[in-house]
Amino acid sequence: MSRLVLLLAVLAIANSPSQAQGSRLYDELDRRVAAVNPQVVAWRRDIHAHPELGMQETRTAALVADHLRKLGIEVRTGVGGTGVVGVLKGGKPGKVVALRADMDALPVTELVDLPFRSKVRTVWNGQETGVMHACGHDNHVAILMGAAEVLVGMRAQIPGTVVFLFQPAEEGPGGAEPMIRDGAMDNPKVDAVFGLHVWPGPAGDIMVRGGPTMAASNSFHVTVRGRQSHGAAPWAGVDPIVVSAQIVNALQTVVSRQVNITELPAIVTVAMFHGGVRENIIPDTVVLGGTIRTFSEPQKRLVFSSVERIATQVAASAGATALVTIDSGYPVTDNDPALTERMMPTLRRAVGTDRVHLAPMITGAEDFSLFQRKAPGVFFFLGVTPRDQDHTKAPSNHSPYFFADESALPAGVRALSALALEYLGVAPR
Ligand SMILES: [Zn+2]
Ligand SMILES: [Zn+2]
Repeated sequence: MSRLVLLLAVLAIANSPSQAQGSRLYDELDRRVAAVNPQVVAWRRDIHAHPELGMQETRTAALVADHLRKLGIEVRTGVGGTGVVGVLKGGKPGKVVALRADMDALPVTELVDLPFRSKVRTVWNGQETGVMHACGHDNHVAILMGAAEVLVGMRAQIPGTVVFLFQPAEEGPGGAEPMIRDGAMDNPKVDAVFGLHVWPGPAGDIMVRGGPTMAASNSFHVTVRGRQSHGAAPWAGVDPIVVSAQIVNALQTVVSRQVNITELPAIVTVAMFHGGVRENIIPDTVVLGGTIRTFSEPQKRLVFSSVERIATQVAASAGATALVTIDSGYPVTDNDPALTERMMPTLRRAVGTDRVHLAPMITGAEDFSLFQRKAPGVFFFLGVTPRDQDHTKAPSNHSPYFFADESALPAGVRALSALALEYLGVAPR
């Protein structure tokens, strides 16, 4: 898309009123979102050109903190590492609502031809690579900075407090957990939390669902120990390669035979199989690694115990042993059903009734889920595929070709601002 077309698209969306015409609140929101939009676009491009990996987001955090301070918002920095918390006290007493954006980028070399393409390089796991906002968190930061400006402008009419959570390291090792440990959800105590993620979908459309939305993600390792022998005399040992192959096959029955897939989907993937150094030496040990995705706590417990039982008992049947370890991962991103239903009209007013859709369940994971364990929350998706393109064919998040159409930014600012205002009780009319 040429820059001119992009600019026109931005202006067209930014100036288009929300669907709640004739509402004083939404007329004011429209005006304020349009006014801040050129800055939101500029912040997003600047952050996009200067991506930072998890727990290294010092430049991004400084940009955020400076902006919030200029707006007169109370700011705490260094929260849970590089996180920033802003607290905006409204003109009247009331509840506390939190809005969250994640700030980190990925070790991906950008292949999108943009004037503000990332040229940042780093070394990741011993390999030289580019750094890119391939998950679109640059958009999240810019949108939340824009929402902060909109909400500060409306401070006098806000009954309650808005907490802005700018978190590090969503892509790992996780920034929500250390921020929560540092009091991000307790000081002041948050009553509800909202967040969004840019996603392939028509630019400016919102996809949302109540209940389990994104999977719990847990990495697991199985260390299979046999007994080393010559490759020409396997009877002299216990072959961990064959045992591990049987374990990989047997693990396929966890989801297909043991999980009630009419209730919730689940995934067990083995993606690592390491053992042996020479063609004629059977090794002592094989290490398998993989990921488990589940959508509820009972389902997670069932899958964990099945994986453990199958791995250890298949190994035992061959005279080998298997040690299974499963990390704590991210829990399921579980949208509070009542809160989701309550806020649906707000999302429709913010972006238009015909632009709010039911989201599919997504087997990716998010540590927004941890904020939802402290307070009911809703996490939703904002489409960023150019409206003249087929979003089902758009490069996915984490692709070096991931592209976010800036025309979606005002919808993001409107949605987060509207959720905060209406949750706290500002009447939509
Ligand atoms: Zn991601
Ligand atoms: Zn992401």
